[in-house]
Amino acid sequence: MIGIARDEGRILISRDRELISRTKAENVPALYVTSLDFTEQLRQMEGEFGVVFQDSPELSRCPVCNAELRLTCKKDIKAKVLESVIEQYDRFWVCSGCEKIYWHGGHWKNVCETLERLRGAKND
Ligand SMILES: [Zn+2]
Repeated sequence: MIGIARDEGRILISRDRELISRTKAENVPALYVTSLDFTEQLRQMEGEFGVVFQDSPELSRCPVCNAELRLTCKKDIKAKVLESVIEQYDRFWVCSGCEKIYWHGGHWKNVCETLERLRGAKND
């Protein structure tokens, strides 16, 4: 992981203190995450690295392979997605790398709710 972070110019983020120590010893940027709460972890990334989480995010990158997503039509993905999903949602994206298909389903709702909590608009 340290080699990948160095080679790809990434920041290694972990709750593993030993890994973070070894990463910093090799002059690779690293962040020890202090909280177990995901929203607090995001706040820490904002505070320490100036990461900006958009209020109205768009699907742009594949969380699996990081390639760009592009909008696609229902007819092009019909064979790859459950019919109930096709009927329930209007917009779909396909990954230009791994061809995984995305839509604003339950996970997306969770993402938006997490962003609301991050902005302090919602407490639970
Ligand atoms: Zn992908």
